[in-house]
Amino acid sequence: RPSNTASPWSSLSKGKGRRPMFEKILIANRGEIALRIHRACREMGIRTVAVHSTADSEAMHVRLADESVCLGPPSARDSYLNKVALLSAATITGADAIHPGYGFLSENADFAEMVVEHGFTFIGPSPAHIRMMGDKITAKRAAQHAGLPIVPGSDGAVQNEAEALALANEFGYPILFKATAGGGGRGMKVATCPEDLVEAFRTARAEAGAAFGNSEVYMEKYLQAPRHIEVQVLGDSHGGAVHLGERDCSLQRKHQKVLEEARSPALNEEQRETIGETARRAVERLGYTNAGTMEFLYENGQFYFIEMNTRLQVEHPVTEMITGIDLVREQIRIAAGAPLGYTQKDIRFQGHAIECRVNAEDPETFAPSPGRVTDFHQPGGMGVRVDSGLYQGVMVPPHYDSMVAKLIVHGASRNECLMRLRRALDEFVIEGIHTTLPLHRKLMRSPTFLDGAYDIHWLEHFVEQGG
Ligand code: ADP
Repeated sequence: RPSNTASPWSSLSKGKGRRPMFEKILIANRGEIALRIHRACREMGIRTVAVHSTADSEAMHVRLADESVCLGPPSARDSYLNKVALLSAATITGADAIHPGYGFLSENADFAEMVVEHGFTFIGPSPAHIRMMGDKITAKRAAQHAGLPIVPGSDGAVQNEAEALALANEFGYPILFKATAGGGGRGMKVATCPEDLVEAFRTARAEAGAAFGNSEVYMEKYLQAPRHIEVQVLGDSHGGAVHLGERDCSLQRKHQKVLEEARSPALNEEQRETIGETARRAVERLGYTNAGTMEFLYENGQFYFIEMNTRLQVEHPVTEMITGIDLVREQIRIAAGAPLGYTQKDIRFQGHAIECRVNAEDPETFAPSPGRVTDFHQPGGMGVRVDSGLYQGVMVPPHYDSMVAKLIVHGASRNECLMRLRRALDEFVIEGIHTTLPLHRKLMRSPTFLDGAYDIHWLEHFVEQGG
């Protein structure tokens, strides 16, 4: 290994019974998250392999990585979702481990298994945990077993309309059908009365079948004005488990998060400690390793588990800003077999952080707006972080997710954070494509947002009324 890449963790390889830290990691993703992972690797003295489609040849993560491999044509199926191409790239470049990022293959248990079978380390939880949490019914059962409060609903899949009607009578309307194999908010249908129910059941099944190749649906009580609050957790392979506090992700449009903050403006100290500790204990009971997120709906002082994400989340930086813990670095250390090296009482939460997701979309119609970035200037200054693969002259391809940048701001208090975010948004320049920056600027003038008094439906109304 060349001396300029000596790993600060190389001493681990000398310790008895410890696995050596990786020398080279393949990053199986694109965009800002590929860059994010590359940065953590660089700081750990680990070499990086970028992969890309022909549409991403000039992407920043490709330019910065030590090596790069073209996987194939633009369509995700032929490139970032192509398991064989990814494993070939890892073999050819001699990588030790694969980091999947979020989206694409990050929660694909078969891929994680293939990675391990081919002698690489998968930087994430075990395939068994991914599989358990990937099926929402087994996930709910496991969560309940691990002591997490769940949303009242059917015990498993709902087989037919008669069963659905009987259950809905028991729980009371409104109810929600959700796809067992669901994700991205698809395959969900609300029914407010028995007359709606049959239609909702059929549509949910049809949508689930089309989107996930599995039409199985289950039923939950539909909470009318909850907040979405999630807890970041970490578990190591030695039984160590911590939580890194909560994130409030209630600002959503079409079930997609738009802005996230940590800590939640809705919780008091006792509530956040209780849910954090409940989540931490669940990690212990599940024997879960690596980073994960337990998602809850929160209404009238009660938490209801909805799902666990077995990967790094888009919004992980807000947690990093208030804890000072680099989550990607922790993922890599844990995957290499290192112990956490700290316990819950060592974790300190400082100040407040907010993340704005900037999408390449028309800020009013939300129509995708791919194209060439003609001008780019990112805000800076104290407490400001931008995670983005954009630069002046780069082409934003039409083939992938529209999120192109994350603006993350930290302040000593929520108020300081808001003032800083407002000025950072004013400094941000992205020209040549439309972005959702104007929507975020409008949000900063909304008294409801500034008061933190929003639920998961509020943003949708705010957008409908033109901000
Ligand atoms: P997905 O995996 O498709 O994102 P989730 O289970 O995470 O599905 O739910 C996505 C969003 O749908 C939640 O953030 C929330 O806004 C809404 N939702 C899910 N379950 C319920 C429920 N029981 N009541 C009300 N809203 C819900």
